[in-house]
Amino acid sequence: MEIVHTTEVRALVELQRKDTAIGALTARAAEVPVKLAALRKAFEDKKLSMAAAKEALCALQVAKKDAELRIAEAEEGIRKHQRELNLVKENDAFKALLSEIERDKAVKDELETRELLILEEIDKAAVLEKAEAAEVKKLEGVMNSEAAALEASAAELAAAIEAAKKDRDEAAADISPDLLDKYEAIRASRAGLAVAAAYQDPATGKYSCGGCHMSLTPQKTVDIKKQDAFAVCADCRRLMFLEQTING
Ligand SMILES: [Zn+2]
Repeated sequence: MEIVHTTEVRALVELQRKDTAIGALTARAAEVPVKLAALRKAFEDKKLSMAAAKEALCALQVAKKDAELRIAEAEEGIRKHQRELNLVKENDAFKALLSEIERDKAVKDELETRELLILEEIDKAAVLEKAEAAEVKKLEGVMNSEAAALEASAAELAAAIEAAKKDRDEAAADISPDLLDKYEAIRASRAGLAVAAAYQDPATGKYSCGGCHMSLTPQKTVDIKKQDAFAVCADCRRLMFLEQTING
């Protein structure tokens, strides 16, 4: 079967065009859930990053409370030792209390320095947390409108596919069953493309198959120019035709 004689070349070419268009619509429809998932993932990631910022702020606030508590304890220690200072008679005990007080004061100074650093970090973390929350809110709005647009386009695509399939089935019903079977068998094994236009390289003048892009033998080059016939590609077995032959 190196050549398929039929008066339905133009009808089959047209059917292939319809099927190719349905394939393209179907591919676009398949992209919609992928895009929706990507949108939702980006939003969830942003929410996670906002939660992390909130958690960091909380941890700093806990650290601040802890420092305040320990400062109060150090102050209490200082006051206690100062009261005791008034009661002791012995020089050694007096000296010991004084050094206790010095130690407490040093601890208190260190804690106060730490608290200041924590306060600075809290300011930064609060700014970051606010920015993250604003971004989440903004992204939520963007996501909702983009998701709505995608869902609308999915509905349009589904309707277009349904209409195109109906139109295609009507066109297929007019083609003789033998030729249609041949067409469907090749289409099933060749990624949906059974009928391919052969094309000429303007530089070399050589023709190639529009399906597999292998160059044609001189005999095939003669065959594709015949009226009311498809030349079968020696490489991919697709049905080849020439645009100028079916249009001319
Ligand atoms: Zn081919």
